[in-house]
Amino acid sequence: MSRPLDAGIADNLSHVRRRLEAAAHRAHRSPSDISLVAVSKTFGVDAIRSAFTAGHRVFGENKVQEALGKIAALSDLDLEWHLIGHLQTNKSKKAAESFRWIESVDSVELVQKLDAAASQSDRRPAVLIQVDLAGERTKHGVPTNSLKEVVGAAHDAHALDLRGLMLVPPSPRLPEDSRPWFRSLRSIRDTLVDDGVPGECLRDLSMGMSHDFEI
Ligand SMILES: *Cc1c(COP(=O)(O)O)cnc(C)c1O
Repeated sequence: MSRPLDAGIADNLSHVRRRLEAAAHRAHRSPSDISLVAVSKTFGVDAIRSAFTAGHRVFGENKVQEALGKIAALSDLDLEWHLIGHLQTNKSKKAAESFRWIESVDSVELVQKLDAAASQSDRRPAVLIQVDLAGERTKHGVPTNSLKEVVGAAHDAHALDLRGLMLVPPSPRLPEDSRPWFRSLRSIRDTLVDDGVPGECLRDLSMGMSHDFEI
């Protein structure tokens, strides 16, 4: 049955996809290299079902507890869940069992807890290391001077699939304000690869929020 919610979400999704494709072409990239994560935090399962009906599969949640209820309620759908919010070490087990991607890994201790939890439950979640480029104490993320250590630990972890870096830059006034931070993260990634981290482990950069996705 088609509901008004379905139509609204399908329209929004195709609008965002068109903007994403246009931005990819401007940057001489293939849109198929870009993964759109629909942030479903604060949205109910109905909205997620509507997005699924419109063809979307990848969803981001920022709180483990809130996500677990939705993941259980939607277990009949083949969805790819990403954790994008801060993860406390005491929730590592639940996170490793429930999320296909954990984008907010930000300490060696968390790497070790997740690795242990994932191997116990026979999972191998993809992980991104969240970086705190601006030295914002209010935000989570690894300071750049400890990044090599955390990336190294994640690369060595047998039950984690290291895929790249994540960044939430300082709140921009304009979308363009995010560009220097995005450039900087990309150059940090390139340096890590030059220093010996295999490129395929750092291929993905998850950066910014809704307002600056085209940048
Ligand atoms: C909430 C959130 C987003 C999306 O938020 P918007 O308000 O839609 O910009 C993106 N990334 C992270 C890490 C978030 O927590």
